[in-house]
Amino acid sequence: MRKEKMWVAGSWCASEDGRTFAVTDPATGEVVGEVPDATEADVRRAVEAAHQAFPEWAGLPARKRSDVLYAWYRRILDHQEDLARLLTREQGKPLAEARGEIAYAAQFVLWYAEEANRVYGYTVPASSPTKRIQVLRQPVGVVAAITPWNFPAAMVTRKVAPALAAGCTVVLKPAEQTPLTALALARLLEEAGLPAGVVNVVTGEPKRIGRVLLDDPRVRKITFTGSTEVGKYLMREAAAHVKRISLELGGHAPFLIFDDADLDAAVKGVVASKFRNAGQTCICANRILVQRSVYDAFVARFVDAVRALKVGHGLEDGVDIGPLVDEAAVEKVLGQVADARAKGAEVLVGGYRLTEGAYGRGHFVAPTVLANVNETMAVWQEETFGPVAPVAVFDDEADAIAKANRSRYGLAAYVYTQGLSRAMRVAEQLEYGIVGVNDPVPSVAQAPFGGWKESGMGREGGREGIDAFLETKYVSFGI
Ligand code: ADP
Repeated sequence: MRKEKMWVAGSWCASEDGRTFAVTDPATGEVVGEVPDATEADVRRAVEAAHQAFPEWAGLPARKRSDVLYAWYRRILDHQEDLARLLTREQGKPLAEARGEIAYAAQFVLWYAEEANRVYGYTVPASSPTKRIQVLRQPVGVVAAITPWNFPAAMVTRKVAPALAAGCTVVLKPAEQTPLTALALARLLEEAGLPAGVVNVVTGEPKRIGRVLLDDPRVRKITFTGSTEVGKYLMREAAAHVKRISLELGGHAPFLIFDDADLDAAVKGVVASKFRNAGQTCICANRILVQRSVYDAFVARFVDAVRALKVGHGLEDGVDIGPLVDEAAVEKVLGQVADARAKGAEVLVGGYRLTEGAYGRGHFVAPTVLANVNETMAVWQEETFGPVAPVAVFDDEADAIAKANRSRYGLAAYVYTQGLSRAMRVAEQLEYGIVGVNDPVPSVAQAPFGGWKESGMGREGGREGIDAFLETKYVSFGI
């Protein structure tokens, strides 16, 4: 069991009142760690430290900030195996996926180590011979980063690395289910030579920590990944000080399979997209739409592929699907299955909780395929965040696009077709921030990730990812 401390003002500390909370393994219910439960005063101290550290960090030459990020990157890769095992223990995903997440997390650090050196301003021709116009891009200030449990490492680096590259300082609040990976990453950042107070990590009760971060005017920016509900709350509350805000919220990804698709690739693609992280990613396929003429052939192969998936503890060999994060997640997923069944859906495989033997101790749901799904069902409207794949039919391109776009979300969408023209037409008409054409796993550090509509605002990753942490200043010189 790991007994962890928080990282505030460059020291590792308990909470002011000594209270802690437990972190559990979602596959077994075992306690794997204990972390401080931050008080309001602890959080204020973290904000103060970030505020104090800001001028010096922002004033460093970009190359110096970049050097720290490179050193962090190398350390993350050196510790890939330990970090992956810790991640699987507290989060549940299969070890192979956890290793992949650590590599992916490291890519953000590498990318922003590079981008730190390319924060260019520009000059503009003035309207008078005695004036000169210069446009500067400067760090926004203290950033509050609030991260979710589904990617305990990558969501941390995707926010912290560009913030540091831009010259911002950070108070990070990781999800209460998965603080251990975030704290381990912070240790490596300390070893990489980050000055005290530039990043602070506080763990504890979300509402309490969130309140302090929202109320303190020294926090200039909130960057959040999580539910649409909490994102809307933060957006409303951030209005009080007009804090800058970036939101990566829920998704409800349509996965379109056209009659000219390579069906084997489509089956593999859906399985990869839907069941990765037990269905707990915001870009997981949520609505599988198949063209009528290939529907039966697709469903038969898809069901076979789903039957072959192995569910178990993420540290066991050969496991494809781990547990869901907690009991509430199991209830939500099974509730959607029951609702769909009551409204006429057919359960082709799965549809129940796994309770026998070792499964009984964890939050395991059998991988599930639902057919005859329609728009009245919760599973077709609300984010599932679990291993349930609802399938429905479409007739032609226009029908596919209309059905895909009928959602309040707009994060990721997928298109399987071998037709180049069709791929272009459909990709252009989808109201989504990310489109995977014959690609079920589009997330990479160098591309802008983010959603349309209620899926969020702003982008993370890519060239755009650093913009979220920069302000623009225009300086007019009279000469
Ligand atoms: P999920 O449903 O995926 O758990 P949440 O939106 O509840 O998503 O959580 C994402 C992150 O937001 C976590 O770090 C969580 O602790 C945090 N969070 C939840 N509620 C609040 C809040 N009221 N204020 C600040 N952070 C919050």
